[in-house]
Amino acid sequence: MKQEKQYAVIGLGRFGTSVAKTLHKMGYEVLAIDSNEDKVQEFSNEVTHVVQADSTDEAALTALGIRNFDVVVVAIGEDVQANVLTTLQLKEIGVSYIVAKARDALHGKMLQKIGADRVIYPERDMGQRVAYNLVSSNVLDY
Ligand code: ATP
Repeated sequence: MKQEKQYAVIGLGRFGTSVAKTLHKMGYEVLAIDSNEDKVQEFSNEVTHVVQADSTDEAALTALGIRNFDVVVVAIGEDVQANVLTTLQLKEIGVSYIVAKARDALHGKMLQKIGADRVIYPERDMGQRVAYNLVSSNVLDY
C-alpha cells in the first residue's frame, strides 16, 4: 500500500497555521514546529504533532527526523534571517521538497538560489487570485 505523504510546517503564524490545519483536515500527518512555547501550546490539539524547536539549528532538525518528510513548508515570516537559514539547513539535510514563504522578490530570489523547490508570496498570490476572481463571472467565489 502506498504511504500517505508526510508534511512538516515550520513557523505557526497565520500562514503556517492555515497550511498545517488544512493539511490535517485533509487527513494528512502534519508535524508543526515553532520556537515559541506559547505557539506550540496553543496549537497542540490542532495537528498530529507539535514540537518546540529552533529550525535554524541543524541538530534539532535532524533529531526530529525532518529528512523523512516528503514536503517541508518554511512559514517563518518576519525574521528573514531565520527563514533563509532554515531553508538552507533543510537543503543541507537533504529534504526532498521545500516550500518557502518569501516577503518580497529579493527574498524569493535568495530562497530560489538556496534551492527552495517552490517559493510562495502569500499576499501577492492572494491579491492576484482575488483580482482574477473579481473580473470573472463568479465574483463571490474566492
Ligand atoms: P503570518 O503573516 O503568517 O502571521 P508572520 O509573517 O507574522 O506570519 P512570524 O510571526 O514572523 O510570521 O513567524 C511565524 C512563526 O515562526 C512565529 O510563530 C515564530 O515563533 C516562528 N519562528 C520564528 N523563528 C523561528 C525559528 N528559528 N524556529 C522555529 N520557529 C520560528
